[in-house]
Amino acid sequence: MSTFRFRAIEKAASREAVKVEELGRKSLIFGDHVFNDKSMRQFLTPEAYQAVKNAQLGIKIDRRLAEYIALGMKEWALSKGVSHYTHWFQPLTGTTAEKHDAFFETSFDGDPVEKFNGSQLVQQESDASSFPNGGIRNTFEARGYTAWDPTSPAFIFGSTLCIPTVFISYTGEALDNKTPLLKALNAIDDAATEVAKFFDKNVKKVTTTLGWEQEYFLVDSALAASRPDILTTGRTLLGHTAAKGQQLDDHYFGSIPTRVLNYMHDLENHCILLGIPVKTRHNEVAPNQFELAPIFEEANLAVDHNSLLMDVMKKVAEKHHFKVLFHEKPFKGVNGSGKHNNWSLATDTGVNLLSPSKTPKSNLQFLTFFINTIKAVNDNEELLRSAIASASNDHRLGANEAPPAIMSVFIGQQLTKVLNELKEVTDGKLSPEEKTDLKLNVVGKIPDVLLDNTDRNRTSPFAFTGNKWEFRAVGSTANCAGPMTVLNTIVAKQLRDFKNEVDALVEKDGLKRDEAIFNVLREYIKDSERILFEGDGYGDEWEKEAVKRGLSNNKTTPSALRIKKDPKVISIFEEMGVMTSIEMHARYEIELEEYVKRIQIEGRVLGDIARNHVIPTAIKYQNLVIDNVKGLKEIFGAEDFGTIAAEQLQMIKKISHHIEQINAKVTEMTNERKKANLIEDVEQQAHAYCDVVKPYFDIIRYHSDKLELMVDNELWTLTKYRELLFTN
Ligand code: ADP
Ligand code: MG
Repeated sequence: MSTFRFRAIEKAASREAVKVEELGRKSLIFGDHVFNDKSMRQFLTPEAYQAVKNAQLGIKIDRRLAEYIALGMKEWALSKGVSHYTHWFQPLTGTTAEKHDAFFETSFDGDPVEKFNGSQLVQQESDASSFPNGGIRNTFEARGYTAWDPTSPAFIFGSTLCIPTVFISYTGEALDNKTPLLKALNAIDDAATEVAKFFDKNVKKVTTTLGWEQEYFLVDSALAASRPDILTTGRTLLGHTAAKGQQLDDHYFGSIPTRVLNYMHDLENHCILLGIPVKTRHNEVAPNQFELAPIFEEANLAVDHNSLLMDVMKKVAEKHHFKVLFHEKPFKGVNGSGKHNNWSLATDTGVNLLSPSKTPKSNLQFLTFFINTIKAVNDNEELLRSAIASASNDHRLGANEAPPAIMSVFIGQQLTKVLNELKEVTDGKLSPEEKTDLKLNVVGKIPDVLLDNTDRNRTSPFAFTGNKWEFRAVGSTANCAGPMTVLNTIVAKQLRDFKNEVDALVEKDGLKRDEAIFNVLREYIKDSERILFEGDGYGDEWEKEAVKRGLSNNKTTPSALRIKKDPKVISIFEEMGVMTSIEMHARYEIELEEYVKRIQIEGRVLGDIARNHVIPTAIKYQNLVIDNVKGLKEIFGAEDFGTIAAEQLQMIKKISHHIEQINAKVTEMTNERKKANLIEDVEQQAHAYCDVVKPYFDIIRYHSDKLELMVDNELWTLTKYRELLFTN
C-alpha cells in the first residue's frame, strides 16, 4: 500500500476547522496595522505630517523632516510591539522582497537603544545582483537602491514594519514592478487631466482606480505535500481527471465548507488590519476554487495590496493546514484561475470618467474616455497581450479557456448602437439640428441605455461593465503592476494624441471644441472597429474571424513577448516617460528567462515523477498480474488458461506499452532539454522549450494517466484528483 498518500488522505480527512479569533467590528479595526492618516496625525508633528502629504503629491521631503517622520513612524511601530523594519519591494521575480533590520542598536558607549533615522526610511542600498536585472547589472553596477514610496503607507506585518519602496539600479534603471507603474500613473494623470479640462476647468488631477478580483484554489497541506509536482511547480503535471469535476455546477456560489470559511474569516481579519478593504468572498466554478475581491482603490495602493494579500494568503493558509494555489491552471479538466483587473479613471472633483451620467456634456466626456480606451486597445492589442504573458497563463489564454489569447473589446449592444450613430457624424462643422439631435438622442440617452447593459460576455478579455473596464485576461499569479503599467501607458499616449488632434481642429480648421471632439471620435470609432467583438470568444469561428481582422493570436509566451522589443512599442514607453529602451530590453530578457526556467523545472519534475513514481508502481502492479496469470496457468493448464487469463494478458501488454512510451518520451524530452540548455540566445532558447520540450508533457501525461486508471488504487502513490479536489 502506498502509505505516504494514504497517510495524507487520513490526515486531511480528520482535520477540524481551526478556530478564528474574533476581532470585533471591521470598521473599528480597519487599518489598525497601517501608518495611515489617523496614526500619522497622532505620531507626527503637524509639519512632518504635512511633509508626507506633500510627498504624496510629488514634493520632495527635506532631510530634517525625514528625521521627524522616521521618529514618529518608529514610535508608532514600537507602540504596536514591532521589533524590525524592512524596505518592502517588488523585484522582477513577480513576488515581494524584504530584508529585515532590527530597530535595536547599541550606542557608542554600549547602551541599548531603538533607532530608526531619516536616511534609513528614505533610501537604502541593496545588492541588486541577486535579483533579475536583464543584463543591466553587467552593463553597469551591481548595487541597487530601494527608495521610499510615500504614496503607499507603511504597514506592520508580523513583528516587522514594512515600508513600501521602489527598487532601482545604481544608474537609475527600474529593477522592480513599482517604478514603471508609478511613472505610468503619472503619465495618465497628466494626459487625462488635460482632456478632462475640456469638460471641467477645475480638474487638477486624475487618479487611476483598480479593483482586482483574486481567484485561487485551496488544497489540504498534507495532500499538497504528497504531490511533488504541486510542491515544486504549483500545479499537477499528472493525474487523471476525477469522475466528478465541475459538471454539476454545484460549487459556484455554493455554501462554503467550514474549514475554508474559517480560513477566509482569518484572512479577512488580517486584511482589515492591514487596510485592505476586502469585500466579497465566494466559491468559484471549479471544486476547491474560491475568489476574493476588495473595494477598488488608487491603482498603486491596490497593486501593493494585491501583492501583500498573496503573501498573507500563503501565511494564513499554513495555520489552517491549507496550501493556496495561485497557478492559472493547477488541475486539468476544471476551470483555471484569473485575476480580473477592474480599471477606471477618477478626477479630483469626484467624477468617474468612465461612468455615464445625466447631462449631455458629461456624457460626451464619458464617451471621450470610453472611445479613447477602445482606440488604445485597438492600436496596442498585441502589446496588451504581452503584458499578461507567462508560462502559467498560457494554459488559459492559449488553450480555449477563459479568455482567449486574442485581445478584443466587449461593449454590449447598447453602446455599440451609440458608436454606430456617432460614426455618422458629419465631417467638419455640424449644423445646429445635428448638434441638437446628437445631444438629445445619442449622447443624452446613454444613462438610460446603460441600465440594460447587464449583458456580460464572460468570454471577452476586455469588457466594459457599466462604469469601468474589466481586463479579464490577467493571470491569477500575476503582479497587477505589469498589465496596469501597459494599460495606463497606452491610454495616456492615446489621450495625449487625442488632445493634440482636437486642438489642431480647433486652431487650424476653426471648429468649435465639441465639433472637433465629435470629429475625432468619429474617426477613432472607424479606426477601431476590428477590436470590437460581442460573440463567443472561445469559438473556432472567432479565431478565423480575428485573422481576417488582422488581430494577433499569440498562444504562447515566447511569441507573445516579442512585441516588447518592437521599436514602435519602445518609443511609446519612452515618449510617455515610463521606461527607457534599456529597461524595456532588460524586461524582455528577464521574462524570457523566467519562462525558460519554469518549463525547465516542470520538465525535470515530470521526468522524476514519471520515472520514480509512475513506472515503479506500474511494474509492481504488472508483477501482481503476472503472478495471477502464472497461478491460472497452474490451475487450468496450458490449454484453457489462454481464454481464462485473456484480460490479464491484455493488461500486461498494455502496461508494458505505456511504460515503454513513458520511458522513451522522458529520455527524448531530457535530450531536448539538454540541447535547449546549450542555446545561448534566450529568445531561441525560450522557443526551444516552448515548441520542442513542452509538447512532451502532454504525451507523458497521457500514458501516465492511462496507467493510473489500470493500476490498483492501493498501490498508486500519487494523490488523485478526487482526493485533491474534494477533501476540505
Ligand atoms: P463582478 O465583475 O464579479 O460581477 P463587480 O462588477 O461588482 O463584480 O465588481 C468587481 C470589482 O470591480 C470590485 O472589486 C470593485 O471594487 C471593482 N470596481 C467597481 N468600481 C470600480 C471603479 N470605478 N474602478 C475600479 N474598480 C472598480
Ligand atoms: Mg469580474
